[in-house]
Amino acid sequence: MQITIRSEKKELLVQTVSIAPNEQDPDNLYLFRCPYDGETLGTQIKGNVVKISPGIEPRNDVPTFQICHKCKRLYTFQTLEYSKPNTKITLVSPPLGAIGIFYCWLCRSPILQFTGNKVVKLPDFKLMQFPFEMSCSNPACPAKYRINDVVQM
Ligand SMILES: [Zn+2]
Ligand SMILES: [Zn+2]
Repeated sequence: MQITIRSEKKELLVQTVSIAPNEQDPDNLYLFRCPYDGETLGTQIKGNVVKISPGIEPRNDVPTFQICHKCKRLYTFQTLEYSKPNTKITLVSPPLGAIGIFYCWLCRSPILQFTGNKVVKLPDFKLMQFPFEMSCSNPACPAKYRINDVVQM
């Protein structure tokens, strides 16, 4: 998506974060962190993050965006009715040759490192094949993930 900041056109990566009610913990609010650098966006979310995927997903209302001030990714949030035990992720590969780190949205632990279409699980650097399921590398964190794929943008 292109946006104009002070008459300068910029290309920005948009991510859609899908949230669903959390039956086990219906009242808890979580601070959402950018999974590409662990920065907090200042957005509180109520419920489970069930999916983080690149692009704007079809929706009825006018989307609003939050920017990560560190990496300049834009985030838009949508609510789904069904809950899932894990968060579905489609990774966005960094520019050629660069190494991307994926951080738990909930506790900010680094959980994956990726470059091109190769992804390793942290902290043991185990090479993974898509799709795969994993728990957060922090044993005290309840987050679980299903990593679907990595895409180039
Ligand atoms: Zn960021
Ligand atoms: Zn975590």
